[in-house]
Amino acid sequence: MKSGSKKCHSCGTMTQTPYKYTIVPAKTHGTIPVYNKAAAKERPNRETLKGDMKVTVNYYCDEGCYEKTPPQVSTNQYAI
Ligand SMILES: [Zn+2]
Repeated sequence: MKSGSKKCHSCGTMTQTPYKYTIVPAKTHGTIPVYNKAAAKERPNRETLKGDMKVTVNYYCDEGCYEKTPPQVSTNQYAI
């Protein structure tokens, strides 16, 4: 079973148990969607969303690798 393998964004190692980091674009400043279990079931997977809501997914071996090479995120996007 190698179908689940992902390449580490930091060191390039293939890992079967990747540490997944998802960047979700902040559409509106100061608005944080409330997580709703029932609604989440009906909504499509975040990763399939397009356009403004398109998310960036990075995979790492583990949190240690993530800290070594964190994803490039515009700080303006999350400025309060
Ligand atoms: Zn790594």
